[in-house]
Formats: sequence, C-alpha cells, structure tokens
Amino acid sequence: MKRIILFGAPGSGKGTQADKIEREFSFKKISTGDLIRAEVHKKSVIGNKIEEFSSRGLLVPDEIIIEMVKNRVLSDDIKEGYILDGFPRTLDQVKGLSTVPAEEEMAVFLRVNEDIIVKRILSRVSCENCGNIFNTIFQIPAKVNVCDNCGSALTKRNDDTEDIIKKRIVIYRAETLPVINYYRGKGNLHELDASKDINTVWKEIRELVK
Ligand SMILES: [Zn+2]
Repeated sequence: MKRIILFGAPGSGKGTQADKIEREFSFKKISTGDLIRAEVHKKSVIGNKIEEFSSRGLLVPDEIIIEMVKNRVLSDDIKEGYILDGFPRTLDQVKGLSTVPAEEEMAVFLRVNEDIIVKRILSRVSCENCGNIFNTIFQIPAKVNVCDNCGSALTKRNDDTEDIIKKRIVIYRAETLPVINYYRGKGNLHELDASKDINTVWKEIRELVK
C-alpha cells in the first residue's frame, strides 16, 4: 500500500490533482475534514468526542484525527494506496502518521509563487446552486457567469480578496514549512512547479506515482 502526501498552498491546484490521482490509480483520497464531518454526522463515539471539543471552541486533538485516518486506511475499499490532502499539518501529526500503515510513502509539494496563487483565486467563481467551481482564466464556463452543470448564476466568494488570500498564504507557509522540511530531510519529497497549467502538472505527478 502506497501513501501519497500532497502539499500545496490554497490555489496550488492540490485538490484537483488529488482527484486525478484517485481516478487514474484507484487510490483513495483521505481528507480529515471529510472524516470529521462523517463521524459527527454518524454520531459515533469519535463523532461525539469531536462535537464536545468543537462546542468548547477547541481544535480536534491529533490522537483523534490519527485514529480516524487509521480506521479509514484499514477499510476494505483501500487496497492500492491513499492520498492525504491537507494532512499532516504539524510535526506532531507527522509522528502520529508513522503508526498508520503504508509500505511506500511519497510526499509531493506543489510549489506556486504568490502572484499566481492570488491571480488564480481571484479569478475563481462558484455556482450559487450546486457549488461547482469555475475559473474565468483557467476553467472558463461555456456561458459567461452561468454554471455548466445546472445553469445557475456564478459568483465570487466574499473572502476571496487579495488581502485575505495573502494572509492565508502566510499562515499556510508558517504552518506547513516545518513539515515539508521534514519530508525533504527524509529524502522522499518531490517538488513540482505548479505554476504550470493543470495538465502539465498532472503529467509530472502521474510519472511520479506510477
Ligand atoms: Zn451549478
């Protein structure tokens, strides 16, 4: 079983690439946000614990997140491998991850400069009705400001302003850099220039993964 860890700031195209790996290699994408929402929805033992932390305004502790990831990795539908998207974020989580099964591990860092991230996010529009995301530069809808999927209006997110995006990038870098450096030191970090278009980046990732 192979573990692929994807790193990349907001706007790096990380989510899109994770989806492509999932489709091409029948790996499963594991997002801790999705796991948390699923447990809370099921009202499982873990879900109730999470609710308790959230209601007190606390972050979900790493032990709980690691336990959820481990359970997910051990489920029957994961055979060839899995992709971690947005996790691990801290060195403590990296340590916890060493208890989660994987025979092979690869970390991929999608590097993009700040100007491009800002440009990409500012040109993003989403559907008010179905949530589909388009981009007025890179993923142009067939009709201006109309969702290809359902025909509803496309709008910009209020929090997609240049200031807020730059702040998000600063937070991302501060948080993730030590983790990226850890994988670099371990010798299994692959850095890709994700300023290139989505398909070029995808071809490079496909070569790495196969
Ligand atoms: Zn739509």
